[in-house]
Amino acid sequence: MTIFEDASAISGDIAELRHAIHREPEIGYQLPKTQEKVLAALDGLGLEISLGRRLTSVTAVLRGGRPGPVVLLRGDMDALPVTEATGLPFASEIDGVMHACGHDLHTAMLAGAARLLSERQRDLPGSVIFMFQPAEEGGGGARLMIEEGVLAAAGEPPAAAYALHVFSHLLGHGVFAARPGPALAAADVLYVTVRGRGGHASAPHHSADPIPAACEMVTALQSLVTRRFDVFDPVVITVGSFHAGTVSNVIPDAATFEATARSFSPQSRSRLRDETLRLVRNIAQAHGLVAEAEYAEGYPVTVNDAAEAGFAGSTMADLFGADRVVTPAQPLTGAEDFSYVLSQVPGAFIMLGASPAGADSQVAPSNHSAAALFDDAVLADGATVYAELALRRLTAST
Ligand SMILES: [Zn+2]
Ligand SMILES: [Zn+2]
Repeated sequence: MTIFEDASAISGDIAELRHAIHREPEIGYQLPKTQEKVLAALDGLGLEISLGRRLTSVTAVLRGGRPGPVVLLRGDMDALPVTEATGLPFASEIDGVMHACGHDLHTAMLAGAARLLSERQRDLPGSVIFMFQPAEEGGGGARLMIEEGVLAAAGEPPAAAYALHVFSHLLGHGVFAARPGPALAAADVLYVTVRGRGGHASAPHHSADPIPAACEMVTALQSLVTRRFDVFDPVVITVGSFHAGTVSNVIPDAATFEATARSFSPQSRSRLRDETLRLVRNIAQAHGLVAEAEYAEGYPVTVNDAAEAGFAGSTMADLFGADRVVTPAQPLTGAEDFSYVLSQVPGAFIMLGASPAGADSQVAPSNHSAAALFDDAVLADGATVYAELALRRLTAST
């Protein structure tokens, strides 16, 4: 039996695990019920299991019967603060929490892959680390797992690492994508408080009004994007929050705003930091005000190793046909904490279109939407890809 045939045979179990996780979604670092379900699914597979200390991660190592390198497979497990509106029979039973990014599928597919590979343990040339990760949606759970030793779990550093992510839009049903180089953006936040001196709105010359200066900063940040950055190494700045004042006849003491700052190379990222801080501070100074500005680094750029992305692409084409594999021309402007793994281990972040068959993926509700739909039909394919990537990568190295 091939791995795909085995995966198809257990696809009912994989779907059942996915539904159970979907019904009881959890957010952040502490996902005790999800962890419990994962441990139950891995029970009896002969894996070396260790649990996170600061987060409810599960690290499971399968030691092959033959010597060889180590491959890491990542599945994230956390949900989002979204009230589900899909009407699915297995919809969330927890108010205000939903698996709207499809991490329930990742967890179930990775557990399925662990089962598929454990059945081949005797002939496996090397070891596989299964990384079940909380807190992808903003908490940097991957970085914490690295700090707690996930990359050393099998005794030697992984030779390659792969993550799979489903999409309810963008990609057609069952279509895989992996691009060499940058796959996702770095996502940082610029926090600015412009301090002035409040007073009566009828006599602004007696005050130091922070609002016009803050507005000028917002406009200047947009000009900065086009005048200071290479159009072929783009950046995005969006001021998503702006607050100042209370009423029309009072000049406030301060104005505050926050901007997301996205970039696709370490060079443009560090320039984005330096140039945005310089811009807002100097505009404030030009107006006789002070800007307190902080540039908080979020997830770094997710960079796929060219060889590993190529290997993943050819593996998926071999398994499912070349018409089900695409190489996106551009990265996505979202961000992923698998970037922390890929900054230490060559590997690939692989995308899988999971919109229902027949749906138009270009207009389907996107990931993070309360109406996002992810089709069970991709579960066996995803579990197969996880398992085949590990098996073929280990075999190729020995
Ligand atoms: Zn997400
Ligand atoms: Zn996600």
